[in-house]
Amino acid sequence: MPHTYKCLINGELINTQANLTVINPANEKTIDQVPDCGAAELDKAVQAAAAAFRAWSNKPIDARRAALMNIAEIIESNQDELMRLLTAEQGKPHEQAAQEIGLSALWLRGAASLDLDDQIMEDSDERLSRLRRVPVGVVAAIVPWNFPVLMAVQKLGSALLAGCTLVLKPSPFTPLTTLLLTELIRDTIPAGVLNVISGGDHLGPLMTAHPGVDKVSFTGSTATGKKVMENAAGDLKRLTLELGGNDASIVLPDVDAKTVAQSLFWSSFSNAGQICIAAKRVYIHEDIYDAVAAELVDIANQVKVGDGSEQGVGVGPIQNKRQFERVCELIQDAKDQGYKFLVGGEPGEDIPGYFVPLTILDNPPENARIVAEEQFGPVMPLMKFSSVDEVIRKANDSDYGLAGAVWATDTDAAVEIAEQLETGTVWINEFLHLSPLVPFGGHKQSGFGADFGREGLEGYTYPQVITVKR
Ligand code: NAD
Repeated sequence: MPHTYKCLINGELINTQANLTVINPANEKTIDQVPDCGAAELDKAVQAAAAAFRAWSNKPIDARRAALMNIAEIIESNQDELMRLLTAEQGKPHEQAAQEIGLSALWLRGAASLDLDDQIMEDSDERLSRLRRVPVGVVAAIVPWNFPVLMAVQKLGSALLAGCTLVLKPSPFTPLTTLLLTELIRDTIPAGVLNVISGGDHLGPLMTAHPGVDKVSFTGSTATGKKVMENAAGDLKRLTLELGGNDASIVLPDVDAKTVAQSLFWSSFSNAGQICIAAKRVYIHEDIYDAVAAELVDIANQVKVGDGSEQGVGVGPIQNKRQFERVCELIQDAKDQGYKFLVGGEPGEDIPGYFVPLTILDNPPENARIVAEEQFGPVMPLMKFSSVDEVIRKANDSDYGLAGAVWATDTDAAVEIAEQLETGTVWINEFLHLSPLVPFGGHKQSGFGADFGREGLEGYTYPQVITVKR
């Protein structure tokens, strides 16, 4: 049976014999099927991207900017349809799905304003050295399931603006909105410049090992990121890896408990906690611990968990069964160890859908699995601290180094702490804020390279220096 959702290869919408079933995580019912592409489709997509590369990279950057602006406009014109489909396949409430779609359009406009001007490195009596940026070629872009549209658009925006062509693969759990968007925008981009192929987890390794791919832009777990790096080593493909995190939030005693709790709550529970940069460990100074904890519990009791297509739902289900089982396992471990729950902790009611109640844990030890591991779900461990040195040491005691936050009235004190954190981003008095103009990347095992801003764009290029002897 032909699929409603098709892949895009060399400007043509294609079907495959094999298919993948996509389900709605709020009710576990099948939404639709999508093509399950394999080596043959990948070869065609890579060939098409390679063939389109010269002409696309030779276009003036303003023409490529215009392509990004056109895509942004199409996203906005189809906001409602995209938003509904995103909620159905990903689970996030309509309001948050609308934010993701809206932000995707804004993101492209922001990214389109970036530049890759040449830089003069030496201008002396002896020589003139000019550094220019040349696009790497064909990019394989691999996207996870937590922000399927925004992350696809972020990769597409950077690659296309830099002059690369690409083969993009959505997560097998959330390919629908990406494939719908692809169909909507396909006439705005020359054939072969953007190719989108859906497929199971077998497809990623084929992409990262493909000899026709020059760069891999991967967002996903650290475990998979390591496999990507290994696979890409064969021919030294360029790499950007945006991986997992176990971000610490540090709350100093001079804050207003009620105000901070509001932001803190959503920094952990937005998207059901399935955000790489969610606050996954929350350290609160002992003088204000009880007050902040009480406010957080209060909010948790008011926020409704449910099907994201229903009105009034603030937090949707976990996106897939594998992740649901992992979060349940971490909660069970916390119970087995006798840790104290302030709220939640009882998943697995016998109803369809991967729902986990909003769960807050009271001061589990540092070696608790829920503290030491990335939970990627709606479970917030609160830990008490008494000294700044102690909390910095604990925050840094992780193989991850993605982001972190410090909450304080005295922002100078907060910045002093921020400078000692081993992470790529630190926010003071906010969280989750990313911008197309500001580089973002993880330290340690949270990533390799950076996305966004000029630095992110440069990741899609090689530096080339031309020196004229005078
Ligand atoms: P995942 O690593 O399981 O999958 C990510 C993508 O990689 C999917 O498209 C998958 O099909 C593909 N894939 C699977 N095996 C592969 C392989 N061997 N080679 C190449 N590709 C392969 O991650 P996920 O479960 O989809 O996403 C959750 C994880 O992603 C979390 O750890 C989260 O922190 C991380 N994440 C990081 C960022 C960031 O910007 N740093 C953003 C979002 C999510």
